[in-house]
Amino acid sequence: MSETVVGRFAPTPSGFLHLGNVFCTLLAWLYAKSQNGKIVLRIEDLDSSRCSIAKADALAKDLEWLGITWDEGAYVNEKHEDFFQSKRFDIYKVYFDALLEKDIIYPCFCSRSGLHAANAPHLSDGRYIYPGTCRKLSNFEREIKMQSRKPSYRVKVVDKGISFVDGHYGEMTYNLSEESGDFIIRRSDGVYAYQLAVVIDDALMHVNQVVRGADLLSSTAMQLYLYELLGLKAPSFTHIPLLVAPDGRRLAKRDGGMEIRILKDKLKQPELIIGWLAFMAGQLDKFEPIKVQELLPIFNPNKIPKENIIVPSELLNL
Ligand code: GLU
Repeated sequence: MSETVVGRFAPTPSGFLHLGNVFCTLLAWLYAKSQNGKIVLRIEDLDSSRCSIAKADALAKDLEWLGITWDEGAYVNEKHEDFFQSKRFDIYKVYFDALLEKDIIYPCFCSRSGLHAANAPHLSDGRYIYPGTCRKLSNFEREIKMQSRKPSYRVKVVDKGISFVDGHYGEMTYNLSEESGDFIIRRSDGVYAYQLAVVIDDALMHVNQVVRGADLLSSTAMQLYLYELLGLKAPSFTHIPLLVAPDGRRLAKRDGGMEIRILKDKLKQPELIIGWLAFMAGQLDKFEPIKVQELLPIFNPNKIPKENIIVPSELLNL
């Protein structure tokens, strides 16, 4: 018997749910449900200075209103707090310590200590390749520096290609030494980095199918590298194109009008939002209102475009 498909939604509650998030969420749902799979909702609130429970509550309510459901995880039962990353630091520590023990990670005292590392790196964040400065420090130098500064921790990457077959884009290869250099897995303030937390959580939550935006393609190589180092089983990865504004910018939280709570006020019916998303995802030939469930029998992943998708002006100018 084949394994049950377990997909996931992994929103970061640093803002309100917007059209771009829902586009990924809807497709993750369709991929999993079209294979009789389950969905886990995990709240990626590692960075408590940017995330809040109120925003997580709002995200869940917006998803419910849209009719996008999940089977396990946050907001499901009394154990739901286990699916908030902010409550899982003890778990991350076990894996972090194991990497430390194996001498695969090292303290970094550079001032650019990756304050954003707790968030998934989206394209607009720009790219930074760490030159490996602190990798070369001796134990003695580390001890001296430890006395005056709390370090972040980086994982040593190797200079070779990491290849995987993406469910939508096919064969991909990234060399992490050219992509990111040694990357952060714990920030200097003790917050675990997105790359580490996401790997541990997907593995422990038995997620075997990750569907997310194409701007995380190179993160997949980092994550596969961590799966291997930690001896955990990696899921399959499928990346989907991003929704962009007519000028090609990624649709982001700052496009306030694309927040679901605002679209909800304007459009009133979830079917209208789902219809637009399904049309942009190539699942409908023209825009028409539709319910999430009604998309299941017609879902065809081959129709999802490969290029980024420009949000129609009718929708942007509502
Ligand atoms: N929490 C991440 C985000 O909102 C999700 C990253 C992922 O799907 O792995 O961007």
